[in-house]
Amino acid sequence: MSADEANAPDAWEKPQRILVILAHPDDPEFFCGATLARWARAGHEIHYLLLTSGDKGFQDATATAEHICKVRQAEQNAAAAVIGVKSVRFLDLEDGYLVPSIDLRRQIVRVIRQLKPDILVTCDPTHLYAGDYYINHPDHRYAGQVVLDAVFPAADNSFFFPELIKDEGLLPHKLSEVWVSLTGNPTVTLDVTNTWEIKIRALKEHKSQIGDPKEFEERMRARKSEKSTEENEYYEEKFRVIKFR
Ligand SMILES: [Zn+2]
Repeated sequence: MSADEANAPDAWEKPQRILVILAHPDDPEFFCGATLARWARAGHEIHYLLLTSGDKGFQDATATAEHICKVRQAEQNAAAAVIGVKSVRFLDLEDGYLVPSIDLRRQIVRVIRQLKPDILVTCDPTHLYAGDYYINHPDHRYAGQVVLDAVFPAADNSFFFPELIKDEGLLPHKLSEVWVSLTGNPTVTLDVTNTWEIKIRALKEHKSQIGDPKEFEERMRARKSEKSTEENEYYEEKFRVIKFR
């Protein structure tokens, strides 16, 4: 291991269990797929929880929500297999109408207490604009909000959702770190050059989402980091990382 790798913010001593909770199929791969592929290859165990099945993200306006869910879940499962993910769960809430409700917070606390991850990955609820060309999807913002609200103060506090303890035996669980993707305020930048191709390959499983695969690949390869040179290309993914002590 090089000195750089030993000092990397993800140089955990032991294999970690990592739970990724985001709004839509394709969010994990778009937001941080190269990082997840890097972690899977380093021997960490990755699980996905998708809050919706993306039933409004489809070209064919005549398709039923049921059909779209089926297609997008199958695409997500195929993409997760490319990344090296151990399990994928869907809450199947309606796409586009997510709200950070107490009921949804309870459902997320349930999965955290069931899986007992060391690390949780979500996205930044405060990320509303990027430059002057992008408004972030409300589902992304509300997913980030409800997930962070589930992490603190609920997941490891037995006074929150005591019915999960009483009825399901799900004891409080404390995470060690939260990695917040899709953020305008990153504190950690990972070099993911070695797994950028895996990210592209995983994203290409989301066939209903990417348009022409050749053009898509070109667009993704063009997302080089600023430190790239003529000879060497670099790719990065950025996070705001919270470490609990
Ligand atoms: Zn999305």
